[in-house]
Amino acid sequence: MSKPAAPLQTASPAGPASAAYAWPAGKASAAWISIDVDADTPLLWRLRETGDDGYLSEREQRQYGLRAGLRHLLQVLARHEIRATFFVPGLIAGRHPALLPELVAAGHEVGLHGFAHEATREISTESFGEALEASLATFVAQTGQRPAGFRAPGWELTRPMHALLQEQGLYDSSLAGLDHPYTLDGVLELPVSWNREDTARFKMTGLDARWPPTSPVVVLQEWLFDWEACAAAGGLFTLTLHDWVSGRPGPARVLDQLLARICQDETAWITTGADLAAHDRQLSPNRRRAFSSTGP
Ligand SMILES: [Zn+2]
Repeated sequence: MSKPAAPLQTASPAGPASAAYAWPAGKASAAWISIDVDADTPLLWRLRETGDDGYLSEREQRQYGLRAGLRHLLQVLARHEIRATFFVPGLIAGRHPALLPELVAAGHEVGLHGFAHEATREISTESFGEALEASLATFVAQTGQRPAGFRAPGWELTRPMHALLQEQGLYDSSLAGLDHPYTLDGVLELPVSWNREDTARFKMTGLDARWPPTSPVVVLQEWLFDWEACAAAGGLFTLTLHDWVSGRPGPARVLDQLLARICQDETAWITTGADLAAHDRQLSPNRRRAFSSTGP
């Protein structure tokens, strides 16, 4: 008979991984609806060198987002009186100059998401910085406000790119190092999760599809289960949706029913990235969790 296994040791110098995050008074967890308004920018980025215009099917699938999908999602949010964060590539904001002002006027937050939805693994740090500056200029010109946050296309970042976010004083929502807000190299991280993302469930663009789409009924069960687990652990449930994917009727109803359930929990703080960042800023240093990407 073998001896019982020794308990796992956490390597965190900041304490046990289960240390509770300090949410506002009366709140035990948080839920954040984030919507990446990619539309056709990832396709345009892929075709930027060939100029190939033979992808009419995927382009039309993506155009659905700004033709109809975004409106459907806004209707669901309005029904539950929920403010969300919309991460918008600078190219989309430039092409639709009324978009950012309308989102802000409706009480939502707008955040940066690259200029041309550049795949960060395919560009230099310098190009990343130029895209960041160009997007910031577009956002400030259109809304009169400086955005608080950034999300990397594809959730991919390098350390030098991350350092540019720190220089700009932006929060980031591209990494997944904890289940609640934490600071990495001086940048506030609002963590994401592939379990709470819609393209991994619903996206199918034809012959290059890697998996069949999941039924919205199944996804609702998955996300309800995951939200309950996250809330019980005192975490931040960041849901990441896309205009052209979750704006369809079935997935939009998933959001509707998920929000109906979350809104029943008065201890769940349903909020935006900017408000999460403002809350974290006023926490005392000993209540924050801070790490270095080059540390142990
Ligand atoms: Zn994106």
